Amino acid sequence: MLQSKSFVKKTKQGKVVKVVREHYLRDDIYCGAPICKVCDVAAARLGSSASTIIIVDTNVVLHQIDLLENPAIDDVVVLSVVLEEVKNKNLAVYNRLRALCSNSQRRFFVFSNEYHKDTYVKIESGETPNDRNDRAIRVAAQWYQNHLGSAVKVLLITNDRENKKKAIQDGISAETVESYVKLLGQPALLDLIVQPPSEDVTMEDAEDLRPSKRKTIYPEHKPMSEITAGLHRGIYHQGKLRVNRYNPFEAYIGSESIGDEIIVYGRSNMNRAFDGDIVAVELLPQDRWQEEKSLAIANDEEEEEDDVHLAPSSADDAPRVTNLSQAGDKDATPTRPSGRVIGIIKRNWHSYCGSLDPMPMPAGEGGIAHALFVSKDRRIPKIRIQTRQLGNLLDKRIIVAVDSWDRLSRYPSGHYVRTIGEIGDRDTESEVVLIENDIDARPFSSQVLACLPPLPWSVSAEDIANPIRQDLRHLRVFSVDPPGCKDIDDALHCTLLPSGNFEVGVRILCHLV
Ligand SMILES: [Zn+2]
Repeated sequence: MLQSKSFVKKTKQGKVVKVVREHYLRDDIYCGAPICKVCDVAAARLGSSASTIIIVDTNVVLHQIDLLENPAIDDVVVLSVVLEEVKNKNLAVYNRLRALCSNSQRRFFVFSNEYHKDTYVKIESGETPNDRNDRAIRVAAQWYQNHLGSAVKVLLITNDRENKKKAIQDGISAETVESYVKLLGQPALLDLIVQPPSEDVTMEDAEDLRPSKRKTIYPEHKPMSEITAGLHRGIYHQGKLRVNRYNPFEAYIGSESIGDEIIVYGRSNMNRAFDGDIVAVELLPQDRWQEEKSLAIANDEEEEEDDVHLAPSSADDAPRVTNLSQAGDKDATPTRPSGRVIGIIKRNWHSYCGSLDPMPMPAGEGGIAHALFVSKDRRIPKIRIQTRQLGNLLDKRIIVAVDSWDRLSRYPSGHYVRTIGEIGDRDTESEVVLIENDIDARPFSSQVLACLPPLPWSVSAEDIANPIRQDLRHLRVFSVDPPGCKDIDDALHCTLLPSGNFEVGVRILCHLV
């Protein structure tokens, strides 16, 4: 079956051409369920005893990928419309989703709904692409339920109120992420759910929460249009924020537009930016450069002694005013420009290793505790998380991901991802070092191993005899080629010599053993 889409397009030369795209629809795309009586089950990826198959929408993937990566979540159908939308919106999450779909230990199945004759939907007049995609997801969910019959429950997971309502009207079972996870009966899993940012909370709700505490702590981020205009006019400067490893209250932005580094002193001027974020900054008036430095030092001292974080309300306390008379280096003339962050162009948020700030167990069993996470990386601010398993986490190294940071909160909000192990345990701390340095220590996948020559394998006698080759198997040699390269042949080694010097070797490899 053939669907064609045509539209008119103007070329660079100004000609108007009609473009026709052909979209082939097939009837031989399988559902991936081993219990299916109709499809070829050889390629089935879903569980044979699954009582529920879940279908997730794009926003669930984009925001709850840590939850999806947890082994408790399985028998997931990933629709091609979702995969495509995720790819366009966030490549990092897309890669994580692809890894889940190709992981043989997990039961994630990609269904090409966009190419199946019964699940492809054409955009209707007046329908936005988003609404069309939501409809495509509902049509596919309904197809699955009809296709598999009553033996399996097909459940659509969406946090979109409208989409969920329409699904239920169409007779599709639908749950929000939170209501679905509650059904699983593992309260600790609820820790992994990303809470919607407080911007979504109406002012009334926010006031209901803690009327006296919801004070604005950080200046507003300027809208993107204003940032772009300001960059264009030269009143703002763009660059990557790098936080000082030894003093997290000081950061630098290398700015091409002013040909110098702009220093940002203090959390308030950093205005919720993280190390590695691409930010827009505004220079402060020159007469304030020195004053800002003193302020930052004062803030630094204050936060170091700050241990008021036992309850969520105190974690949100506004910075106190500190006496500045002692702080600062009065003799130094400020030579470097100082600025403040007015907007964040691209976030560099990822997950961080660390532990929870010690705190007493809240009264009552099984309740939700608000805790502060302290990253091993000093450049990262403390992160507020909610947990239902505080007793399990207090003496552990854990991984936490950041979700949001609103103007009313002193610290960003995040969620628990997983536990590495007990604090001080050698294996745990080694893994922390690997994770912190972004070294992937997971076992190689079967696809990677398939690239190797079959065993038994040995270096050929010819290579050993070759005078221009050297056998370096007694040395620890590291490949240094970048990800994605075709020839892995550049390598280094470094050996401590008896004299205390280091021997460094730069190698071109013919075989990597
Ligand atoms: Zn089937």
